[in-house]
Amino acid sequence: MRAIQVRAAGADFELIEKEIPQPKEREVLIKVEACGICHGDALAKEGGFPGLSYPRVPGHEVVGTVDKLGSAVSHWKVGQRVGVGWHGGHCFSCSPCREGEFGACDNSLTTGLSTDGGYAEYMIARSEALHGIPEGLSPLDAAPLLCAGGTTLGALRHSGAKGGDLVAVQGMGGLGHLAVQFAVKLGCKTVALSRGKQKEKLARQLGAHAYIDTSAAEAAKELQTMGGAQVILCTAPGGKGIGELVGGLSRKGHLVLVSFSREPLQIPSVPLLRGARSISGWVGGNLEDTIHFSVHAGVKPMIEVFPLEQAAAAYNKMMDATVLFRSVLKMMN
Ligand SMILES: [Zn+2]
Ligand SMILES: [Zn+2]
Repeated sequence: MRAIQVRAAGADFELIEKEIPQPKEREVLIKVEACGICHGDALAKEGGFPGLSYPRVPGHEVVGTVDKLGSAVSHWKVGQRVGVGWHGGHCFSCSPCREGEFGACDNSLTTGLSTDGGYAEYMIARSEALHGIPEGLSPLDAAPLLCAGGTTLGALRHSGAKGGDLVAVQGMGGLGHLAVQFAVKLGCKTVALSRGKQKEKLARQLGAHAYIDTSAAEAAKELQTMGGAQVILCTAPGGKGIGELVGGLSRKGHLVLVSFSREPLQIPSVPLLRGARSISGWVGGNLEDTIHFSVHAGVKPMIEVFPLEQAAAAYNKMMDATVLFRSVLKMMN
């Protein structure tokens, strides 16, 4: 099979040919149809993830069909379409697992980091990490829902945002364009925040009720004139800009970060103290919920499709934020 591998931290992607792996007892072999490219893949490319060893095949937004079952797998069927996200499996025995918090498993596997991921024609996955992908949802559209979608819908659900609430989405990229759609479909009055005017038309097409150009207006002040946001979902990095948004929250409002920022956050204390406002972070989510909700509500990622051999170009467009809005690899087989 063909695969894209990273030989060592910081090395370039290389297209290789290797043997198709065989599933062990609790694993399945997936014939990959599509794999989304996510910021998290930078950990495989550049290193820094605990327990990561090389060579490694990245990719944790994987959709394909079950090709072979391990001897102890009975739930899934050969030919069935499945997906795998960041969470690659759990132990069922540790304290979080015993509480049903499999995502917090002390011994969890991470797809494309602790195991080889979906930048390949085939990949091995643990059966407990699989999600059913309904017919009628294209593998290319499904792939970004398995990380970008799960994280943004999960963050909104976790924030407690309810229909009618004012929800602001900061950043209109891979995460933000999904977050706007989810917030709109959850019935929230949705405000898109982005630098410049160029994303306004798209934000409104995706259903946003208002748009704030953060380079021309003070976003916190604008949000306060609308009554203050119950939730601000921050999808774009930038420590200083995010701190300034805290002033746009309503009383008891939540600011939720879903993207990694190298800069430390600068948070003013007064709005936190006076309004019982809070800040938290969120990654991952319930992928079954995400897929079900997206199909039901018609939420779709906007994607640029690349063949496997162009993984480097697809990754670079994602990293410099020029992709509209999510890169997805399409396997040729
Ligand atoms: Zn991801
Ligand atoms: Zn566990």
